[in-house]
Amino acid sequence: MHEREKLELVDKLSEKGITNIYVLKAISEVDRHKYVPKAMRQHAYKDVALPIGYGQTISQPYTVAFMTQALNLKPNAKVLEIGTGSGYQAAVLFRMGVQVFSIERQFEIYSQTRKLFDQLGIRINTKFGDGTIGWDEYAPYNGIIVTAGSPDIPPSLKKQLAIGGKLVIPVGTKDSQILKIISKKSDDEFEIKNVPEFSFVPLIGREGWNQK
Ligand code: SAH
Repeated sequence: MHEREKLELVDKLSEKGITNIYVLKAISEVDRHKYVPKAMRQHAYKDVALPIGYGQTISQPYTVAFMTQALNLKPNAKVLEIGTGSGYQAAVLFRMGVQVFSIERQFEIYSQTRKLFDQLGIRINTKFGDGTIGWDEYAPYNGIIVTAGSPDIPPSLKKQLAIGGKLVIPVGTKDSQILKIISKKSDDEFEIKNVPEFSFVPLIGREGWNQK
């Protein structure tokens, strides 16, 4: 279903500069319409963010593709996602064959998406809670992807990243962020690359924005 729309989306993403074939292949295989509310389904394969309720959004496919490509994952990598949301980003990672751990702080979204993963047979380890402090139990991770905008880089996430791994996180004000791609060279040595102009909902938590 939706095969033509999926291929058109993948074409658009490659035109915009996504080159990783594993990322493009996963996007061509994941049913994005299953991760958006019914009323939004006709827009599911457009390259836009869409509201998923509770003031949250499903990220734009280009953003998902860009961040996933930036993680530079090897097969069997272990990835931690902060902000499960609709589950689409996690589903793309799962489709690429990586081991996914994902944390969501809004209970309604967490339980709805957990149910969806079970219905679709998507085996992802999920947790309800504050992702700014990471998920120590399964650390270190080869990749950490934060899908909400943070005031700073949470120290816990840097700590839980494996040496050689990458942390991708939007950092800035509540209105606008730049994407930081952080490579861990050793326990206290990090290389940071900045990519401008992305927009995310706020990351709320102990090492994020205070709850208002
Ligand atoms: N990856 C999601 C994007 C959802 S938007 C997708 O593919 O649809 C970001 C999500 O981050 C929201 O659901 C929001 O509730 C959640 N979030 C914000 N702060 C968080 C925190 N500290 N820990 C875990 N999740 C958080």
